[in-house]
Amino acid sequence: MQISFHGAAGDVTGSCHLITCAGRRILIDCGMFQGGRELDAQNEDDFGFDPAAIDVLLLTHAHLDHCGRIPLLVKRGFQGEIVSTAATRDLARVVMLDAAHLQEEETRRNRRHGREDAEPLYDTMDALDSLDRFGRVATYTKPIQLFDGVRATFHDAGHILGSAIILLDLTEDGVSRRVLFSGDIGPRERPFLNPPSPPPSADIVVMESTYGDRDHRTLGDSVSEFWEAIADAHDRGGNVIIPTFALERAQELLFYLREGAAAGHIDSRVRVFLDSPMAISATQIYRRHAEAMRPDIGAMLRAGKDPFTLPGLQFTRDAADSMALNRIRGGAVIMAGSGMATGGRVRHHLRHTLSHADCSVIFVGFAAEGTLARIIIDGARSVKLFGDEVPVRARIHTINGFSAHAGRTDLLDWHRRAGSPARTFLVHGEAASAEALAGALKKTGSDVRRPTLHEAVDLA
Ligand code: ZN
Repeated sequence: MQISFHGAAGDVTGSCHLITCAGRRILIDCGMFQGGRELDAQNEDDFGFDPAAIDVLLLTHAHLDHCGRIPLLVKRGFQGEIVSTAATRDLARVVMLDAAHLQEEETRRNRRHGREDAEPLYDTMDALDSLDRFGRVATYTKPIQLFDGVRATFHDAGHILGSAIILLDLTEDGVSRRVLFSGDIGPRERPFLNPPSPPPSADIVVMESTYGDRDHRTLGDSVSEFWEAIADAHDRGGNVIIPTFALERAQELLFYLREGAAAGHIDSRVRVFLDSPMAISATQIYRRHAEAMRPDIGAMLRAGKDPFTLPGLQFTRDAADSMALNRIRGGAVIMAGSGMATGGRVRHHLRHTLSHADCSVIFVGFAAEGTLARIIIDGARSVKLFGDEVPVRARIHTINGFSAHAGRTDLLDWHRRAGSPARTFLVHGEAASAEALAGALKKTGSDVRRPTLHEAVDLA
């Protein structure tokens, strides 16, 4: 009985953990490494195991850093079954197809620039082949007997739609172990998801540590701040640009806009454009998964009411419609990707908006060092966009309290509720936050380790 770590080990992205038990190989997540050239290149490396030898892949949730290498796994020979919740399966389809499309585009660009041997990491066919590998659907709290000696139970992680914590009950040669994978754990307060389920008790936990060193602001303050920023821009007559992630954050913002309009915090006639094909597809999936929402929101959906709409909402799928938005001189709220403004349609909107003092840009998510979002947030007087130097005269808002991750206090509480497991492996966190969390968890008597990439540890 063994565990090995093939991603998110000493880092945040690329989640991929392998359990070997009773002659079977079980993979938990197969995510993309993200964030800069060096990490991008790491995706092409050997997995550290033979994809063809994996029997089953359990997927915690549909974020790219958890599912993004699945098409590569299939391309390199994986023929096993993928097990996930229904919502995760539907969202992963959109995420993997989008990733394949982006890689094909980049390959075409590279070939045009003389790199004729450029190849995509995987293509649309590989992503489609991956969809064929999805088999049994996991329901929260219902155990699935995968093999003799291997049973998996998914619990609600409250992180994004369909997200799960996975408990593995393992038995080999008379030795039994309960291994709990946290996936990504959500915060307690969510607009339409349930808070994370109390974790089952376990002997061994593999736990995320993204915010192991800090707590977030309360959600209520951030929502009020968001409504104020929208109302302020409306009063000044300009447009609002919101760089946003397509999954979860876009749906959360639609949800808050609807609530704000209903409660009179913002003008109910405000024109809102969701200018992202991927966010539009994701929103349609959200509407189909009442079972994965908080009971009151699920009931709303079942009654035919849409929690993700407001009277002035328009979806712009086509590129031509997106470009037409730049002719609107005021009163529009435009949500577009990418979330950190590193690419996508939002860069066009920023070019047309940043120099106007009556406009606003609202940042609502994490912005990594070096990204355009971060440069603007840090107060740049002008930024370079499509070869032009664009002065920043628009009002810039940064709202920090929206997070899909548990903060430090909640992570510590989660570990305690899992029965303070004897062994803890900390993954999915930068060194500083993982170290800070490790320090606190060691005081509970747990043997805490931060595994390195491809490290294998005996569990028996
Ligand atoms: Zn995630």
